[in-house]
Amino acid sequence: MRCVSTRGGESTSLSAAIAKGLAPDGGLYLPESCPRQRFTKAFPTLTEAAIAVLEPFFEGELLAPHLDDICREAFSFDAPTRWLDDTTGLLELFHGPTAAFKDYGARFLAGCLARLTNDSKPTTVLVATSGDTGAAVASAFHRRPGFRVVILYPSGRVSARQAHQLGSFQDNVTALQVRGSFDDCQSMVKTAFGDTELASTLRLVSANSISLGRLLPQAAYFAHAALAAYARTGEPVPMVVPSGNLGNGFACLLARARGFPIGDVTFAANANRVVPDALATGVYEPRPSVATLANAMDVGAPSNLERLISWFSLQPASVSADSVDDRSIEASIVRTFHRFGVAVCPHTACGLEVLHREREKRRSTGTAIVAATAHPAKFESIVEPLINEKVPVPTGLAELLRRPSKADFLDATFAALKAMLMAS
Ligand SMILES: *Cc1c(COP(=O)(O)O)cnc(C)c1O
Repeated sequence: MRCVSTRGGESTSLSAAIAKGLAPDGGLYLPESCPRQRFTKAFPTLTEAAIAVLEPFFEGELLAPHLDDICREAFSFDAPTRWLDDTTGLLELFHGPTAAFKDYGARFLAGCLARLTNDSKPTTVLVATSGDTGAAVASAFHRRPGFRVVILYPSGRVSARQAHQLGSFQDNVTALQVRGSFDDCQSMVKTAFGDTELASTLRLVSANSISLGRLLPQAAYFAHAALAAYARTGEPVPMVVPSGNLGNGFACLLARARGFPIGDVTFAANANRVVPDALATGVYEPRPSVATLANAMDVGAPSNLERLISWFSLQPASVSADSVDDRSIEASIVRTFHRFGVAVCPHTACGLEVLHREREKRRSTGTAIVAATAHPAKFESIVEPLINEKVPVPTGLAELLRRPSKADFLDATFAALKAMLMAS
């Protein structure tokens, strides 16, 4: 399918848009249209749901003959909905190797790039991370021939388990702890992509969440979960999506536009309330991010908002958003544990809190699904003291935590990064 930039410009094939990441005019790619079909019957597996969601976008594309295989690789672990009670579903997106939903998108993107790059020069995947993205990308490209991964993260500003995870891959993955902030890491990466000498020496690609190769596949699990809920109730199911950069939330809207039975969609933000404010006032005002307990959503300038704004002019969607502060995150973790005996991560807690408020406000108890974006064991230092219990560590995460971990220091300058990239 042809893709267009949110800022206009020429259209390009989906495969080329995935290979490029960002559009040349600085905008974000969007498919030219979203083919609508009527889906009512559940698919036996997540992989089959993914293929059905994505097929029309890949029709006639270079990647079309590979779509089934790419989906089989990326969706090889399930995303079950766990019903806390008769009407409250938790869509568990954390059963992948790094225990957060980003595993799906990162693995799908890796599958696409592996099939799109066929020259002898190795590809360097360069990524700045504030936590979960780096591990998902590292895991997705780990030991893939023809690729190396370079991860930059702010030293001392990710959780201990996140840091261990980032440094535990080795082989073709280099983790670097930058003596600076996440913003420093991001601006070093940005400068690298604009550097002509690097571009002529290395084959550099980005793996951040603006890539359609990460965004589109995320619609699959919302579609799959919606059909399963529809089979229970016969009605479109409202969904709440904990959101930072809005990649996951946008994918949920995409699944609905594709024709899957999804009702109202609500974005749950933490104290960084740029998205709720933008939806309430119609004015997008980026702000410096503030640190919260749900650190993967500490975003002051959500990049996918530009997509959302373009999308609204394509097709009006009922979407709302709410913001949850740290005290309410803690209260939500405690309430969920006491009522259902289930530990949730701080991001998921934002989603549950927003659903709780909506139900109080509307005095409704209809069926709804909240996306559970990470496993609570990744944030045990926050969750365990609140529930007064240990959170069991899932097998994949435990395996990473058992490996040795190593991350060299790097100064927060582009010169230091460039020297490192050119030397290896
Ligand atoms: C990345 C992340 C989010 C936010 O997702 P966006 O697509 O950026 O909105 C929420 N929760 C967790 C655990 C994450 O890692």
